[in-house]
Amino acid sequence: MRPLPRVRMADLPTPVDELPRLSEHLKGPRIIVKRDDQTGLAFGGNKTRKLEYLVADARQKQARTLITAGAVQSNHCRQTAAAAARFGFDCVLVLTGERPGQYSGNLLLDRLFGAEIVWSTREEREHTLVEVFEQAVSARRAPYLIPYGGSNAIGAAAYVFAIEELISQQIQPDWIVFASSSGGTQAGMVVGARVFNLQGKILGISIDERSNVLSQRVANLANEIANVLGEDLLFAPEEILVNEAYLGEGYGVMGTAEREAIELFARHEGLLLDPVYTGRAAAGMIDLIRQGYFTQDNTVLFWHTGGTPALFAHQYQSKLG
Ligand SMILES: *Cc1c(COP(=O)(O)O)cnc(C)c1O
Repeated sequence: MRPLPRVRMADLPTPVDELPRLSEHLKGPRIIVKRDDQTGLAFGGNKTRKLEYLVADARQKQARTLITAGAVQSNHCRQTAAAAARFGFDCVLVLTGERPGQYSGNLLLDRLFGAEIVWSTREEREHTLVEVFEQAVSARRAPYLIPYGGSNAIGAAAYVFAIEELISQQIQPDWIVFASSSGGTQAGMVVGARVFNLQGKILGISIDERSNVLSQRVANLANEIANVLGEDLLFAPEEILVNEAYLGEGYGVMGTAEREAIELFARHEGLLLDPVYTGRAAAGMIDLIRQGYFTQDNTVLFWHTGGTPALFAHQYQSKLG
């Protein structure tokens, strides 16, 4: 495999813990959790792994300003802002939505890390991002553009190595279940599974996209990752497992399923999930367990992708309290 430039910022390997009380409560299979909420950068999450490669690429290209975009409570933006602070870059975030009266959760942290925030509407956001980038070029700020979710081939390649890490922990689950959105995490995992011969199935619970759209995106990205790593591999959308049954009321809207999942993990394991990603993915896993989707002798690994600061976002307080 072709080596990729990398800076070190994540605490790795992340732990793998048993969830015996949750498993017993659900009368389900063995459940274990891979703690990528413990990657260590500013409350952690899956973006820390991606940023190790993205920041290295930005440095190599002599960039001085990291620019990225996301939702108001974007974990990716919070972690990018933290990485920028840690490695001495300026950071500009293009956030989609209304500027709230009160800064909370991830947004509060964005500002604490010194990121400049530009607000945009959903319709305008691509245009705004291009504008912000061009302004940074003219101002000689040497910008480096990180895509939504850090999900290009360079960022997503991090999850190829996360699979290598899992195998080195002597863990071979039958299933890996997690929140899939921009597709980078899943694409890296499927490439990693092929390269390092992981037998278990990789099931993305879609957060905000129909499964045909997401599986196509993941397959495309997986092919790009393989290319960047110099691996002669080909992935088709048909072999990407995406479940679209848990989209609920839409992106970022916490419903009863997410709330129940957050409560079950909290009360049975003392483990925190988030309202947007891991709460939804865990709700999907719990429902699949109740439906008997997994067999009782399976080991199901829930890959915790982080996001916990969103628990403290103003908009979720009344629903969680
Ligand atoms: C970004 C994010 C995801 C989704 O990862 P993708 O690589 O974009 O699919 C899942 N969980 C959390 C907490 C995230 O912040």
